[in-house]
Amino acid sequence: MPSLLPSWRWTAAWLRRGPLAGVRLSVRRCRVPADRSADCARAGGRYTIRVDRGAAEDAAVLLLLHEAAHVVAWSLEGREHDAVPDHDGHWGLAYARVWREFSRAVEEAG
Ligand SMILES: [Zn+2]
Repeated sequence: MPSLLPSWRWTAAWLRRGPLAGVRLSVRRCRVPADRSADCARAGGRYTIRVDRGAAEDAAVLLLLHEAAHVVAWSLEGREHDAVPDHDGHWGLAYARVWREFSRAVEEAG
């Protein structure tokens, strides 16, 4: 079955020119702690997203978008005081925004 999602590489590049443009961001597909599939962190105004290198391509893309919403909530919506990633309403709105822009970009790339 062909994938309905773009590749990891395309998605990571799109984030950098799309919703995370101007954000100091490192995106890595690597080993992550065994209790998670992906995570994100910030330090000194720089953000890092890590996605499990063992995740299938489509799963990795979905995980990347999830983590990107955390970075959006942190970096663009002034939620810097949140010490740990949270799935509150601010994150939900950020996730909706990322998905909306992602869907449009995928259609345009079609
Ligand atoms: Zn999360």
